Amino acid sequence: NRQWLLAARPQGEPKDSDFRWSEAAVPEPGPGELLVRTIYLSLDPYMRGRMNAGPSYAPALQLGDVMVGGAVSRVVASRNPGFAEGDIVEGRTGWQDYALSDGGNLRKVDPALGPISTANGVLGMPGVTAYTGLLNIGQPKAGETVVVAAASGAVGAVVGQIGRIRGCRAVGVAGGAEKCRFVIEELGFDACIDHRDPDFEAALRAACPDGIDVYFENVGGRVFDAVLPLLNTFARVPVCGMIAHYNDSAPPSGPDRLPMYMRLALTHRVTTRGFIVWDYQDQYGEALSDLSGWVKDGRLKYREDIVDGLENAPKAFRGLLRGENFGKLSIRVSDD
Ligand code: NDP
Repeated sequence: NRQWLLAARPQGEPKDSDFRWSEAAVPEPGPGELLVRTIYLSLDPYMRGRMNAGPSYAPALQLGDVMVGGAVSRVVASRNPGFAEGDIVEGRTGWQDYALSDGGNLRKVDPALGPISTANGVLGMPGVTAYTGLLNIGQPKAGETVVVAAASGAVGAVVGQIGRIRGCRAVGVAGGAEKCRFVIEELGFDACIDHRDPDFEAALRAACPDGIDVYFENVGGRVFDAVLPLLNTFARVPVCGMIAHYNDSAPPSGPDRLPMYMRLALTHRVTTRGFIVWDYQDQYGEALSDLSGWVKDGRLKYREDIVDGLENAPKAFRGLLRGENFGKLSIRVSDD
């Protein structure tokens, strides 16, 4: 059983030496347990937070633990009446070939809904994150402007497209011309601005002639600074992620933006609310049903970035934090 373990807590960007490769025997399921074999390991930004000592919204990994991660897997042996050999499941089974489970952390994947890899992306945790955060906190109304960064990625792509489905103007932010072209031409956003462009702030302003009603916060950093002066009265800011800061090892330099933001929150009555996808666990079924319906009828497009080989997981994960992925990032660990 090949595994990636946490070897050291990263300072800044994770290094090769922060991960350790290990090979152990394939475990045998005990009574009530099942053994799954990983097919697609999902790589997600939150994993960077689990590598820190914590505290956060979930417990930190301990040194020597198998790296945490969701995956789409096949049941290869079952002593649990709820699962049969051959079932496709999704759950937090970690960066490894095989995992034991009592079934409590797994959901069955219906292969009729789409390629099973989508259970890591548009029809999985990131898709549900976009759906629940946007609809519950963002509450987009027809005619409003929704802005989201990491717009070609797993969460952002879904946010903008649901905004369009709800009759909003969807403005994406992404790294580079190729991603921006994809966001407009394939995903159907109204505009997409490159955050690396020297004129990014002016271009964002021009793309939002009526200001911003919903800013779905995925990144922080320069994008947040540019969004601030464009927020409308009664704007909503679902705070989903801050990926521009996950590798920070010190507070950001420069003027403290907090007083300015709090003042804006007051004068413009801005709602800012953080959320974690599992806050909306009770909406998972409804979200998956809507998302899969929209995928089927062509209104919701997605892109996946699938890297071969468990051995390449640390390198691909580092790339995710730098924007080297193009679409939902997964590792193909075994054949589906
Ligand atoms: P993506 O597939 O979007 O990949 C991450 C992307 O972030 C990169 O491709 C890059 O896109 C962008 N990025 C990285 N650094 C920066 C930067 N400095 N400035 C701007 N953009 C940057 O990942 P996900 O869709 O999985 O995650 C998106 C966000 O959602 C993350 O913040 C994540 O932590 C959060 N999240 C939160 C959840 C919750 O429950 N609250 C659940 C799931 C995700 P580009 O090249 O376009 O800049």
